[in-house]
Amino acid sequence: MLRIGVLGLQGDVEEHMEMLRRLSATPVWVKDLQSFKGVQALVIPGGESTTIGKLMEETGLLEEVRKKARGGKGMPVFGTCAGAILLAKSAGKQQKQTGQKLLELVDMQVDRNAFGRQRESFEAEVEIQLEGNKKKKLKMNVPFIRAPVIEKVSGNCRAIATFENRIVAAQEGNLLAACFHPELTEDTRLHEYFLEKVRRQRTPATATPLL
Ligand code: GLN
Repeated sequence: MLRIGVLGLQGDVEEHMEMLRRLSATPVWVKDLQSFKGVQALVIPGGESTTIGKLMEETGLLEEVRKKARGGKGMPVFGTCAGAILLAKSAGKQQKQTGQKLLELVDMQVDRNAFGRQRESFEAEVEIQLEGNKKKKLKMNVPFIRAPVIEKVSGNCRAIATFENRIVAAQEGNLLAACFHPELTEDTRLHEYFLEKVRRQRTPATATPLL
């Protein structure tokens, strides 16, 4: 069974754990370096990204997750909302002002709380273009809660979903960032997609032949 860590320092941790259980994975509540040991992947939930970043630094997890997931070829990480912000290389002007800590793993720049006050929370249908299957698009109805947008992607990072012409999900190798909250819906497909990545990570395509 897949052991999937859910970063549990602050935010909607239990919702992700429940979704992973429904997909027959074993969720592990990650709160320090000890509980991070032995997980095959990590989910970073929504919440308050400045708080989560600070606590990650204090617990040593910021550096450890960075090390394991660097380049998008190592440990798979899935960040939703605040989790997506934490995955970004930069959060623009706001980051400079607040000194916010980020993992700086995904080549993208995010803008926090980009949908403004009166639209702080809403639900919308987004179309997500899955990797490796040009025809496969996931249409999902998902909540945005004080959501960020992805202002730009560069390098190996690709935009995989837009809403009103703004990027709301991106992927760089094994790293997946969504500005919305699939874990608050009944729709498990994006989590399944992530677990598929984790499985593939465990079984290299070039397995040693038996003879
Ligand atoms: N606005 C929050 C932040 O900047 C993210 C909101 C969320 O995760 N629902 O951290």
